[in-house]
Amino acid sequence: MTLKTKLSLVHSLILMVMLIVFGMALYFFLHQYIYKDIKKNLAYEAGLVRKSISYELEISRRDWNLLISIDERASLQKGMFFQITNFFNGAIIKSSNLGYLELPVEGKKVTTAYFDTVSLLESPVLIYSAPLTFNGDIVGVVQSAVNVSQFENFFKILRYALYILTLSVVLLAVVSGRVLSKVTLKPLQSMIEDLEKIRNTGELKNRVFYKRSKDEVGTLVTAINFMLESIEINFEKINYMYINQQRFVADASHELRTPLTSILGNAQLLQKVWLNKSIGDSELEDSIECIHDIVDEAERMRKLVNDLLFLARSDSRLKIELQEIEFKPIVEKVIRQVDVMPKKVKWLHNDISVLNNVYILGNSDYVQQLLLIFIDNAFKYTLEGSVELSFTTNNNMVGISIKDTGIGLDKSEIPCIFDRFYRADHSRGKIEGTGLGLSIAKFIIDEHHASVEVTSSKDIGSTFTIWFREC
Ligand code: ADP
Repeated sequence: MTLKTKLSLVHSLILMVMLIVFGMALYFFLHQYIYKDIKKNLAYEAGLVRKSISYELEISRRDWNLLISIDERASLQKGMFFQITNFFNGAIIKSSNLGYLELPVEGKKVTTAYFDTVSLLESPVLIYSAPLTFNGDIVGVVQSAVNVSQFENFFKILRYALYILTLSVVLLAVVSGRVLSKVTLKPLQSMIEDLEKIRNTGELKNRVFYKRSKDEVGTLVTAINFMLESIEINFEKINYMYINQQRFVADASHELRTPLTSILGNAQLLQKVWLNKSIGDSELEDSIECIHDIVDEAERMRKLVNDLLFLARSDSRLKIELQEIEFKPIVEKVIRQVDVMPKKVKWLHNDISVLNNVYILGNSDYVQQLLLIFIDNAFKYTLEGSVELSFTTNNNMVGISIKDTGIGLDKSEIPCIFDRFYRADHSRGKIEGTGLGLSIAKFIIDEHHASVEVTSSKDIGSTFTIWFREC
């Protein structure tokens, strides 16, 4: 059953029940009210007749008789009848307007007063019968009556009127209910059509249209449109993540293929040389070179796999645990590590006392890894000049800068350097790298709620400044 039909049925049913209850209440109230008045009058009139009755006991030698007579002046309201029946001798005294008719008497019944409706000449007559007593015995009955055909007709018409009224109002309610619910539900229908169109075309940019935005349907449409908007945004995000993931897998496979091919090539060469029984000095030299290449490539691969593993963990919501740490000992440790590294350019650093009593919310291992990524890069991309480490504190922030005089970056390249596998054109092929270091650095920075500033000029050098919030 459609919502439209349900609504109109419920609506009509409620109306019908209400009308029936109202009709019945009205009918019974009027019936009671009118008949109560008539009955009161009948009882009153019977009382008047009873007052004008006189009894006479006639005793003869053989028998005795009770005579009931009535004052000639006794009169009744217009349209009313009376009748007195003597049980003793069966004599009946009645009002002249009864003519040849007699009111029916059920002798046994008349022990108390009662009302009864009978049909006289096919007209309903309401009779009040009350017992007449003489010396404590019931000796007759006094009856007053009235023709109630006009009232009965009135109630009959009223009944029909109520039936017709109820039926026609219910019929009207069914029809108007259907029309009304059709009009009311029309916006829902067009909403369903709009949504189906969106589902069929997959166009999440489309929205549900509704002119009047203030009513309940308007509120529903606004809510659906908001939902569509968030579905669209999330879908784009997921799509973007999916494309990125695909690119990541493709790039990772590509990067792994190069060292693998090299390892395989060198291993095959070794196999060929060493299967040959006569090995001379030159073959021995080639073999050593092959082994060196294999070790280099395997090392490159190990680093790449490590970086990939780190990024995969960061994607699966790896959370770095942070705690209050002193910044200076970490920087000192990094400086000591860099001091002993083989270097082609000068290595300088500022006075570290600036960092006295500086605490940050972080993880010392990850902060150390982060600084080493930037310092490694600085040495890797600086062919002459220097790499310099400097520190600043400002407004509860502590900044650490890694400045080099290396190959630098083009302005257009700077926004991309934190992307996975991104390598600027001039470093590609010439300087060894995977393009993953800065992606890892970015993850650590984000986890520490820190930030990074990059300034760089091609062939002049670059400066990376990482800002941490002090505790
Ligand atoms: P890679 O392993 O290639 O160094 P990174 O993610 O660490 O990967 O760096 C991404 C790219 O950013 C590098 O390939 C390089 O082009 C550029 N880059 C990073 N650091 C520097 C720097 N100090 N000077 C110039 N270019 C840099």
